[in-house]
Amino acid sequence: MQLILQYVECEHCREWFTHTNLLSYTFNGKVNLRSDGKYYGDEIYFSMQFPFTKCRKCGNFFFPQKSLLVPNFWLNMPENELNKEQKQILAAFYKKYPKTNLKNFEIPSLDYPPPEYWFNFPILMIKDALNVLEIPINQAIEIDIRIKLWQLFNDLKYTSENLILKHFFKIFSINGIFHLKFLKNHLKQKNKNIRFFYQNKNSYISNLKKLSELLIVENKEQNLCFLVEIERNLGNFSKARTLLNEFSEHQKKEFFIFVKKTKRKLFFKSKKVFIL
Ligand SMILES: [Zn+2]
Repeated sequence: MQLILQYVECEHCREWFTHTNLLSYTFNGKVNLRSDGKYYGDEIYFSMQFPFTKCRKCGNFFFPQKSLLVPNFWLNMPENELNKEQKQILAAFYKKYPKTNLKNFEIPSLDYPPPEYWFNFPILMIKDALNVLEIPINQAIEIDIRIKLWQLFNDLKYTSENLILKHFFKIFSINGIFHLKFLKNHLKQKNKNIRFFYQNKNSYISNLKKLSELLIVENKEQNLCFLVEIERNLGNFSKARTLLNEFSEHQKKEFFIFVKKTKRKLFFKSKKVFIL
């Protein structure tokens, strides 16, 4: 895993935070691609891919890539190697944390998603994503968030385990008594997830309808796999079949396994996601 340390300013309260940006990542263990586009099996990677974050001070959501951002290495660069815009951003940072005694400050970390989310990951992230969608955002970010929202909802319905905890068990080799302890809560959490899914089914459906519209506007041909899967997940099997017929010969070859498995799911009128 290659991370880059950055400082980012919350656009709402003007507080600066440390923030780590993922440059490259090695998957831990077996990771599969799921039919809704999720890399299934590595939740740490998934949790680091959200374009938004939540301010630890004022609680508002913002987008680090669209905020004032200072990569740590700028602090060590000679001033003449920085351009005008970079100098201005750095000046705003030094106004809050003066260059001369920067070492004496402990700049707080954004830490999002926070550790308390691990136990109830899909539900808490769904709530946050729905709130972020109320903010005016550009189309590319909206598509990104709506795809992740769809995948989180599918986690609730089709995943019978807490993937985040499973991941931690695996990387820290925690087992035995901890497994037993969490096993007890496991069934309770599973039922809670299914209940939440059905309580929020309207949000699931409206998200998929809006996502489908946006993907068509963006590039229908390139997004055909997503569009077929959305209609199948919604139970619109004949619409999914019509879209599947729009695949070019090249796409049929490129997405051979997806097409083959989707046809089988459509035959059995199944809305369930599958592993490719
Ligand atoms: Zn803030």
